[in-house]
Amino acid sequence: MAIREILEVPDPRLKTVSEPVTEFDDELKLLVDDMFETMYAAHGIGLAAIQVGVPKRVLVIDLQRPDETAEPEDCGDGECGHKHYPVINEKLVFINPEILAPADEMAAYQEGCLSVPDIYADVERPATCRVRYQDLDGNSHEEDIEGMLATCLQHEMDHLEGILFIDHLSKLKRKMALKKLEKLRRAA
Ligand code: ZN
Repeated sequence: MAIREILEVPDPRLKTVSEPVTEFDDELKLLVDDMFETMYAAHGIGLAAIQVGVPKRVLVIDLQRPDETAEPEDCGDGECGHKHYPVINEKLVFINPEILAPADEMAAYQEGCLSVPDIYADVERPATCRVRYQDLDGNSHEEDIEGMLATCLQHEMDHLEGILFIDHLSKLKRKMALKKLEKLRRAA
């Protein structure tokens, strides 16, 4: 396994429309392993293959939800005041995903993206949807999803079409976001 380089805006490769996966082989499994490792190292919750420069319809997601039924962990800072629950890891892999029946009802979540670092903005998307996808062995699945997972999956699916979450913002807001990113880069 290896951590791969994450492409960032304005890399033109992020605008690529990704190709369907046809071979469910070891190369695909290695790509998915690397994508998880890369995503965890960058503290992300989702990653599309094109973000590591591979134009294939492959997504990985792990929402890393806090387990609020578990004992909070000691973060070492006695005055921090937050409860640090251990996270539940659930590695989800979506190959050749398709959205079926998106809901009319919309939900807005604050989104960020490893390819647009340090920029966050509210994006409205269908609150629930049905997704059809293949797993690493090529088997087909269909599932109804909602909440964070629905938002995250739709964000990642946009990457397969060469669309970034900032493309959903108004022209002015997108311009401001890119300017802020430029400023942060200069300061770094
Ligand atoms: Zn993204």
